[in-house]
Amino acid sequence: MNELSSIKGIGPSTINKLTKLDITTIDDLVSYYPYRYEVIKKSEEDHEHMVISVMVMSTPTISYVKRLNILRFKALYNNKLINVVIYNRAFMKNNIIPSKVITLIGKYEDKIDKFTASDIKLFDIGNRVEILPVYHLVKGLTSNNINKYINMALDNALVIDYIPEDLKHKYKFLDKKEALRVINNPSDTKLLNSAITRCKYEELFLFSLKMNELKNKNSINNVGFKRNIDRNKINDFINTLPFELTKDQVNVLDEIFNDLESSRRMNRLVQGDVGSGKTIVAFLAMYALALDKYQCALMAPTEILAHQHYLNMIKLFDGYNLNIKEILGSTSKKEKELIKEELACGEIDIIIGTHALLQDDISFNNLGLIITDEQHRFGVNQRSNLRNKGNLVDVLYLSATPIPRTYALTIYGDMDISIIKTMPSGRKPVKTINITNSSEDTKRLLITIKKELDNNHQVYIVSPLIESEDEEADISKLQKNFSMAFKNNNIGILHGKMTSKEKDDIMKKFQNKEIDILISTTVIEVGVDVKNATMIVIYDAYKFGLATLHQLRGRVGRNDLESYCILVSDRDTERLKIMEQTTDGFKLAEEDFKLRGSGDLFGTKQSGDMNFKIANLTRDFDILLKAKEDSNNILKNIGEYLELNKILEDSINKD
Ligand code: ADP
Ligand code: MG
Repeated sequence: MNELSSIKGIGPSTINKLTKLDITTIDDLVSYYPYRYEVIKKSEEDHEHMVISVMVMSTPTISYVKRLNILRFKALYNNKLINVVIYNRAFMKNNIIPSKVITLIGKYEDKIDKFTASDIKLFDIGNRVEILPVYHLVKGLTSNNINKYINMALDNALVIDYIPEDLKHKYKFLDKKEALRVINNPSDTKLLNSAITRCKYEELFLFSLKMNELKNKNSINNVGFKRNIDRNKINDFINTLPFELTKDQVNVLDEIFNDLESSRRMNRLVQGDVGSGKTIVAFLAMYALALDKYQCALMAPTEILAHQHYLNMIKLFDGYNLNIKEILGSTSKKEKELIKEELACGEIDIIIGTHALLQDDISFNNLGLIITDEQHRFGVNQRSNLRNKGNLVDVLYLSATPIPRTYALTIYGDMDISIIKTMPSGRKPVKTINITNSSEDTKRLLITIKKELDNNHQVYIVSPLIESEDEEADISKLQKNFSMAFKNNNIGILHGKMTSKEKDDIMKKFQNKEIDILISTTVIEVGVDVKNATMIVIYDAYKFGLATLHQLRGRVGRNDLESYCILVSDRDTERLKIMEQTTDGFKLAEEDFKLRGSGDLFGTKQSGDMNFKIANLTRDFDILLKAKEDSNNILKNIGEYLELNKILEDSINKD
């Protein structure tokens, strides 16, 4: 019984809301971790930031100014009657009851006995420290609601504990259920941290097991075809490119061709910083195999990206007699059927698509090479799925996640790794500037944006999801503000809830300069390549990890134009300063690593990195190493497995 509806107290409308958060089973629900904690304790020193207990002395009144509501009441603080004001909390009116002691958070102006609260807690904080979990939300759900549902699930449902008993004993780990209780109802930071570590470990342990299994499988199937690479034809093509390949591009291409020509199956990861030019390397590898009469597939994590690759490829290979097709979630049924037929009978040379390519009913005539772009966006399972699509296919992964080599070797233990470090020549580093939300900074920002637009350049505006409203509302607010400021420019919006067709249309318009300002959530984070865009403004930058910010910044500076990345944030400015100092993705990853443990208990919600729910590959690297060692040992005890492995590994090394 893993159905949410089996929990008494969770009805259809709640299920509906939870679905929006991708919570569809009890397992999803209990592993919906808080993304940060709010720590509340009494604090009276700094009048700008007070946390105090007061006794309510009057029934609240509500007044309205435009669309704001204002709630006011009197309270007793230090034997003084103070006037409390809070905005948009009309719904709290009935809970604020005279003679009750509650906690106020906000600013105190003692001269006029006024307290402007930013938040009110309906309990007396006293001398305790309260740690309140904060979850990512959708409209109609509060952190309190989610917390209640999780606790209900924990009361009623079975939770599977994946950590073997002996390991649990070794690390003195809590039981799974107990750990989840602590994580969602923390009372003490030490216990909380150990519960978090335990759940991270479990996630990374399962990940390591999978990786090990994958590695074993791969080495078992390591025999591949020797392909013929027609270097003359490939060089002829390279000579038609409008640019010269960088040294690293040439080297990586060489490594790939060697793999393809060897009797081993290729299983290679190309890591290259944003904008280093991985795509052309992938195209050339596909061209090489197509010349040898094999089919190739290129898989991208988003439709926007898949479509962009498709358009690029047909343009570059116009006149080369290659049959290149794309298949997306939005491709019509009829077209899909046709493509499937053409793939099965070998008429299509190169197919580009999203994970739609993984569907069972897609088969190939003679698949030789599969490439996945932005590899970190795909799960481990999808990886092995791909390899099974053809007979001894070669596999190439592209990734812009800057993971330092030692970590990469651990995470991608089953792959060979190539790195593109040099950037195409002529690139100017993106100028990065941190600003605040103040009206002065905003004014200056608008002027700078206008300057870019006047130069006929385009601008990205990125807004993160905010906690209390849904994505759409947040984006449309920004759109309204920008439409007012830039009446003569075309503004487009892009967010995750749009259909692929809508997203595509917007991207096409942006690419064709029909849109000057693109306001978007992080759906543009990966891969998108619009050369004329010279500025990206990222709101609430503190909500993103450095790696994600770096990815976003990589949307600009894609040719020799001077370009800018503006980070808007009132918080966490120390961390964000690093972005001003370096454009080296690998360095930023190291910095992210060094910074772990600082700030919130969880830090900002991680994005990217293989969709872990609680673990973070970079920050939790120590835990990963342990988990990897443990999972290795477990596999080792399956004696036969090891023997087989060794023989195969030796034979690989001889090759
Ligand atoms: P990423 O590695 O982030 O996927 P892309 O492959 O999208 O980067 O390349 C970024 C841009 O750089 C593209 O517009 C591409 O055409 C261009 N590019 C690639 N290689 C070179 C090169 N050697 N010299 C100049 N421009 C290049
Ligand atoms: Mg790319």
